[in-house]
Amino acid sequence: MKIKFLVYNLIFISIFSCVDNSVPVYLNKNYSYNIRVKDLISRMTTEDKVAQMCQYVSLNQLSNSSDSLKTIDNGDSKAFYKGLFRSDIEKLVTDGKIGSFLHVFSYEEANYLQKLALKSRLKIPLMFGVDAIHGNGMVKGCTVYPSPIAISSTFSDSLSFEVGKQTSKEIRATGSHWAFAPNIDVARDFRWGRVGETFGEDPKLVSNIGVNMIKGLQYDNQIIACAKHFIAGSEPINGLNFSPMDISERKLREVYLPPFKNAVNAGVKSVMIAHNEINGIPCHMNKYLITNILKDEFNFSGLIVSDWMDVERLYSLHHVAKDFKEACLLSINAGLDINMHGPNFYEEVLALIKEDKISINRIDNSVKKILLAKFKLGLFENRFIDTSKISNIIFSQKHRKTSLEVARKSIVLLKNNNILPLKSSPNMKILVTGPNANNHTILGDWTKPQPTKNVTTIYEGIKAIGKSKGFEVDFYNSNSNISAISEKDISRTSDFSKNYDFVILVVGDNSLRYSKNTKTAGENNGRANLSLMGKQLKLIKSVNNTAKNMIVIYVNSKPIAEPWIHQNVDAIIEAWEPGSLGGKAVAEVIFGDVNPSGKLPITFPRSVGQLQMHYNFKPSQYYRKYIDEEVDPLYCFGHGLSYSTFEYSNLKLDLKEDNNPYITVSFLLKNKSNFDGEEVVQLYLRDSYSSVTRPVKELINYKRVFLKANESKIVKFKIKFEELAFYDLNMSYVLERGDFIFMVGGSSNSIDQISDTINLNMAYSF
Ligand code: BGC
Repeated sequence: MKIKFLVYNLIFISIFSCVDNSVPVYLNKNYSYNIRVKDLISRMTTEDKVAQMCQYVSLNQLSNSSDSLKTIDNGDSKAFYKGLFRSDIEKLVTDGKIGSFLHVFSYEEANYLQKLALKSRLKIPLMFGVDAIHGNGMVKGCTVYPSPIAISSTFSDSLSFEVGKQTSKEIRATGSHWAFAPNIDVARDFRWGRVGETFGEDPKLVSNIGVNMIKGLQYDNQIIACAKHFIAGSEPINGLNFSPMDISERKLREVYLPPFKNAVNAGVKSVMIAHNEINGIPCHMNKYLITNILKDEFNFSGLIVSDWMDVERLYSLHHVAKDFKEACLLSINAGLDINMHGPNFYEEVLALIKEDKISINRIDNSVKKILLAKFKLGLFENRFIDTSKISNIIFSQKHRKTSLEVARKSIVLLKNNNILPLKSSPNMKILVTGPNANNHTILGDWTKPQPTKNVTTIYEGIKAIGKSKGFEVDFYNSNSNISAISEKDISRTSDFSKNYDFVILVVGDNSLRYSKNTKTAGENNGRANLSLMGKQLKLIKSVNNTAKNMIVIYVNSKPIAEPWIHQNVDAIIEAWEPGSLGGKAVAEVIFGDVNPSGKLPITFPRSVGQLQMHYNFKPSQYYRKYIDEEVDPLYCFGHGLSYSTFEYSNLKLDLKEDNNPYITVSFLLKNKSNFDGEEVVQLYLRDSYSSVTRPVKELINYKRVFLKANESKIVKFKIKFEELAFYDLNMSYVLERGDFIFMVGGSSNSIDQISDTINLNMAYSF
């Protein structure tokens, strides 16, 4: 491999030294990036320029005859280009007609394609994008971190940063340069199949976790990150991916735009446009959103990429363009730089330029950004990967440790009737069963099959730790195909359960995109219900009848609305999709080696009929009640139990109203138990009176605080006034005078909080 790498580099050096003794300016790394871009642009034809805006799927992801077009459309990362075969794509690369690829999962192919690009006239390197939203899991052998919703469940900005940083190393090492991550959609309809890709329902938490992941991903310029999807696709009117959204300007600015604004401020280098329309205008042609808000108002100067085939869909789905050519015109005029993906864009854009419908300045603007990104990534000097080094970088000990740490801190103990942690006593027997007990569903969406040796399933984790503590641990296969669990599976599992002291039943969803016929969640897998899919509840009820003690574990990525389980089962653990070492983390929590500290970044409703349901609702939302349903959630945002008991007291608010006004919030946190533990303390605000309605609670800040058994600490937050502001009647961002109630506690529920009020005499605008 090393020899191959050297040969590639020799080819590179010799090509330039043989052809011309004076290396062109753009290939001389002693010049600044801007000078190199300028030089390269001056050598490019219009065709060369438009080519940079064209993206294709990798050779290995080109469909074979066994893939139906429907499967491809359903986003399994494959593509089918009518009349174009592998050799045609290779030729396009050598002709310099492709700027980037997505899903180059094989590192041999990464080097091969770059070698082909070296044969093109200008030898511009290719850029490869990959959906690495919780590790580079689409590439075999890489570390899979817990799903984004789990990362957010840690309420730890630093862990999110670390995941991003480590992921960037694995991405670059395996040949790609561009993470289509993070997904900073604010989840508002939990029927949506992609909830698990998000950081939850709160704009502040989504912003912080997202920004930190971006900073990690882009930490040492190995790759660029991509904030997606711009915008509001997470509030589809019927819960289905792609479906239309009607969003007021106020809601856009209060809920959906803040994470993008923060991402831009943090230096994110690309943004992906969303599949959906907003207020009748598909995002891919929405000049107001892309140019006026993103570019002009937020000052975003990075790359703007379409989502998968969405330029085409302007005419084929939305019917706002009469053909693909018009669709290209609309999206480029709106501000698009790169078309994901496929043929015809090149030809149509060239025709539009010829017809003077798109100016060359507009194209230059996109191409400059694309080239600049390639220069800054060092691709002109360093386009090949040394395949001999990969194994030292991916799934390294350090990365595994972080993945495990995130899993430990993300697991949410939803309920515990003193059954957990399990205490060892001689000859106790545990049965681990349920559809997600012993398989790779713990890896979640945007992963490809991973080596068995890299994954610790829940059963394996429980067995290893349980045995070391003197338990006998067995597994019973109750059918891992969630939707196919039969009456026979149910009766056999419950019969089997009789012989055990504890039954640990692992249920939930399957969002593995490669398990086409058995998946129940993930992209394009929206559901009309939030209850457990198939006969899982029946399985739980039946085992509950026969088992002496039962613990339910959820492996899933979005709220499960099953009040019966809460009422009848002694302990419930939300494990999310905890990643490569998830089984170990879950076991550590079960046996008390780890004290659970994850908190829900999303509300769990009691039923789908309660949607939309989120903690930061407006004052009138529950003025009237349902006649057939409660108005409170099953588990609120921020909920998560611990083996410790934390007590909040002595809340103090201090105001500094000078040039840089701020409020200090301090309180005493006590661990009133014999268990060392970590608490996610949460600070919420209520503006008691404002010129337009504000939510009853808004998360302002949070912190992880570790306390030894019976230890106390004073916890402090310093809050700048801007963090308390809102959009007033005129859509100005202001803080009005009046009373502000600050609440601190271990969840968003008032029962878990203490509060105090402060008065502001002056108004501020920002
Ligand atoms: C998804 C994007 C993803 C892209 C490429 C689309 O279907 O919406 O999030 O980055 O595919 O895989």
